[in-house]
Amino acid sequence: MNPVVIGNWKMNLTLGEAQLLAGHVARNAEKIHELEVVLCPPCIFLYPIFEDLRAKPHNLSFGLQNSMWEESGAYTGEVSLSMAKRICKYVIVGHSERRRVFGETDVMVNQKVRFALQSGVSPIICIGEEGRFHLEDYYDREVGRMKNEGGILLQIDKALEGVKREDLDEVIIAYEPIWAIGAGNSATGAYAAAICYIIKNYLADKYSEDLAKEIRVVYGGSVTSSNVNEYMLQPSIDGLLVGGESIKPKEFSEICRIAAEVKSGRAI
Ligand code: PEP
Repeated sequence: MNPVVIGNWKMNLTLGEAQLLAGHVARNAEKIHELEVVLCPPCIFLYPIFEDLRAKPHNLSFGLQNSMWEESGAYTGEVSLSMAKRICKYVIVGHSERRRVFGETDVMVNQKVRFALQSGVSPIICIGEEGRFHLEDYYDREVGRMKNEGGILLQIDKALEGVKREDLDEVIIAYEPIWAIGAGNSATGAYAAAICYIIKNYLADKYSEDLAKEIRVVYGGSVTSSNVNEYMLQPSIDGLLVGGESIKPKEFSEICRIAAEVKSGRAI
């Protein structure tokens, strides 16, 4: 399984800027074979970008930032995966901004995850804690907190409820501590690695070691080209979800280049 870097553009850019950015990323992604790059533009830009990049490199794909859990119907403002699956390989589900601003619940997240898998689209499931964990002093207590209401392990349980074992290899878990998102206040590599390790162990206990190995666990929260190697050096981290820096062409391409080099052992 190749590592993955996902760019979440959120509600930013004009169409022209989006096309330039996608073109820049595609030209650079072509040079990196051992990394999967996923672009998640605002929904309305997906089709023109897809058309521009018909000859896109094989390691570049697209994702939706959100989707509905039904095929079609009276859901004003929503987009169905059946409308987007020709273009999108992935869909972000349960981003903390969706949970906080739009009131998305664990139940909705689960419906979206199951519908995505049913539709042949891979869900990128976002989980994260409000307040920093203190594993160094209170390991058992903090792991217990992860299993309580709002905890990241409970978020995983709820998101994956009813998901078939054979679909698990399509799932990406994005560990995004809420305090680190968009704040310039990134988690250290060691902190992110410890939590991703706990997540992987939890998945191995819940399913099996072999199945858990198929689920990529990525980190997100104020990733830049200056800290990307901190994360990618960690064996428990399979990639990154990048927000703010993903709409800067040079910066995002640099993050992808470093991520690929570090994971392949060509640079540290
Ligand atoms: C995000 O929104 O998922 C994110 C990781 O944002 P940022 O990189 O800006 O912290």
